[in-house]
Amino acid sequence: MQTDFFKFQAQTTPYAAGFEVEKAVGSYIYGKDGRRYLDFVAGVSANTLGHSHPKIVNAIKEQAEKYLHVMVYGEYAQEKPVELCRLLAEATPDPLSVTYLVNSGAEAIDGSLKLAKRYTGREEIISFKNSYHGNTHGALSVSGNEYHKREYRPLLPMVSFIGFNEEKDLEKITERTACVLLETIQGAAGFLVPDKEYMQKLKRRCEETGALLILDEIQPGFGRTGKLFAFEHFGIVPDILVMGKGMGGGVPVGAFMASEEIMKSLTHSPKLGHITTFGGNPLIAAASLATLQEVLESNLMEKVAEKEALFRSLLIHPKIKNINGKGLMLAVNLGSPEYTLEVAKRCMEKGLIVFWQLYRNEYMRISPPLTLSKAEIEEGCKIILEALDEVEYF
Ligand code: PLP
Repeated sequence: MQTDFFKFQAQTTPYAAGFEVEKAVGSYIYGKDGRRYLDFVAGVSANTLGHSHPKIVNAIKEQAEKYLHVMVYGEYAQEKPVELCRLLAEATPDPLSVTYLVNSGAEAIDGSLKLAKRYTGREEIISFKNSYHGNTHGALSVSGNEYHKREYRPLLPMVSFIGFNEEKDLEKITERTACVLLETIQGAAGFLVPDKEYMQKLKRRCEETGALLILDEIQPGFGRTGKLFAFEHFGIVPDILVMGKGMGGGVPVGAFMASEEIMKSLTHSPKLGHITTFGGNPLIAAASLATLQEVLESNLMEKVAEKEALFRSLLIHPKIKNINGKGLMLAVNLGSPEYTLEVAKRCMEKGLIVFWQLYRNEYMRISPPLTLSKAEIEEGCKIILEALDEVEYF
């Protein structure tokens, strides 16, 4: 299978792992090599409830037995997507109340940018240095990493980038700004958490200028930081909230949420302001609804802080420089990309899956399922410490 993977499935790097997966259950992925691997990555923050959670699998099965796709987004009233949107409205503060369901995080970012431009009638977009928002042309245009963009120009015009957590840059937000797009916790940059005071000033500046604040919660959303959405830690509410990844519990999904007034602007002049065939698909919505219900009804979010503290208390080693992040999105600085890669390889040999951050490869990524147990945290951290002991610094 690996040979065909490299031959027939388009590759994105010259060095994909090509790990052959047999099945995945709970916190473990089982390889075709007959071994099981503890998963500290969770499909890059996607498997909120671990692998093949029975509530998600049953929700998909039940929906599949009723019907699959019946119509493009927005025409028919279907139980699962409607229920998902209603529950999201109940679980988020006002004025967030209406959700547009799409197929991926990047599409949700694109939709949110269109919505902000349409609602404000303005053209300028402000994003942040070192941000990552996805890989469609729109999402790439607002991502702040030159290496990934330079061969794809021209991209969206009128986009500028300001410093993350830098108050002095807030004055660059003006009456011409349609929206300011920010990851509540900057992911690819190494799980950087902004200051509460900064977030409140940013919100205030957006209010003063009439620019919409869009928060990208595609990674921290759905409980990963101990709140349903990370903005709740900062005492602010975005005008547009973008989600994805963990929202699906393992199926492809994205969404953007806003007030009724803002969202209504996609319905006229032009009507069909955003169109998608599969957005709101009932099978996907059933999985996402089951995920949301479990996150809200279980004690998983309450346990996040305890689990973070356990990680931080165990991951003490002379080769660990610092640990960024919040909750169950932690980035462990091992000093160099080459060293981090070798440690990740050694962890894999020992039965633990870890990864690295997209722009900051010296940071080892820990973004496990929220369902990870205390014993599994201990098991995985022991492997990391052994790998750090064994792999010489170079
Ligand atoms: N925004 C953030 C913060 C992300 O981490 C990602 C994916 O890694 C995206 C947007 C894009 O989401 P997707 O890969 O589903 O298009």
